[in-house]
Amino acid sequence: MIINGKDLASQIESEIREEIKTIGIPKLVAIVVGADEGTKSYMRSIQKVGEKLGIEVELVDLPKESSTDEVRNVISGLSSQKDGIIVGRPFPLHIDEQQIIASILPEKDVDCLHPINLGLLFLGTPRFSPCTPQAVIEILNRTNTTICGKKVTIVGRSNIVGKPLAMMLSKRGVDATVTVCHTKTQNLSVHTRNADILIAAAGYPCLINAEMVKSGAIVIDVGVNLKDGKLVGDVNFPDVEPKASLITPVPGGVGPITTRILMKNVLLAKRLSSKI
Ligand code: NAD
Repeated sequence: MIINGKDLASQIESEIREEIKTIGIPKLVAIVVGADEGTKSYMRSIQKVGEKLGIEVELVDLPKESSTDEVRNVISGLSSQKDGIIVGRPFPLHIDEQQIIASILPEKDVDCLHPINLGLLFLGTPRFSPCTPQAVIEILNRTNTTICGKKVTIVGRSNIVGKPLAMMLSKRGVDATVTVCHTKTQNLSVHTRNADILIAAAGYPCLINAEMVKSGAIVIDVGVNLKDGKLVGDVNFPDVEPKASLITPVPGGVGPITTRILMKNVLLAKRLSSKI
């Protein structure tokens, strides 16, 4: 069965609209520095989702020459006015990304990038859940997938997807047995074929084919790649789909859920700041 990310996203939207009735309009600011078109377009899509849901999203587009200190000053100036702050990455090379992230107040860090928030996540007591990993978990939960005791293979070990997702899935109470693969993994297909749940987050178009997937496995494709002018995932969808029991498409799978999880985090940040 193909998982319709847009349907799941609209379920989450209804929950968000209900919550806004109680807590009022949350405010998010998205800051980009000399961003490429891909990052800008992601930020615009966040703005559109915000508009649709009644969440205020301000986009701050700083010139690419901005220094690390200038960006930090903009962040600290906006901190008192906004519930949540996100920054567009990658930054220009002269910018110190870790300093920028550390300058976001942890209670406004709705993308869950700050070391304190990642530390809390690691300890199993998260404040925010990182958006894309949480989107994967929402898909599994909302399709009534049993995670406990299942063998999960994640292809990709980035700080924003693979690593936090491994933490979240292996946490006590979720209880998956997780294997994390990366570019130096040998015999990748041995690990992918072993998986009851396979999560592709490598950023490599059509890396996963049918031979690499166990029959009946659940396949979640996080990858977003441009190939021959078309958006494709890390999974060769037409090849793998007949073999999977559940599979997400690209586009229309994980992506729409990620942006709604971000909005849920903005609501949580507002509740935290107003102690609602
Ligand atoms: P990244 O480049 O930071 O990390 C990719 C990881 O995959 C690395 O750990 C690398 O070791 C591993 N990898 C790459 N090629 C591999 C291969 N051939 N075999 C095994 N491992 C391999 O990327 P990221 O930021 O984690 O993003 C991964 C993908 O997910 C990208 O396509 C990105 O666009 C997409 N993404 C989607 C969403 C969403 O909401 N849908 C959000 C974030 C990222």
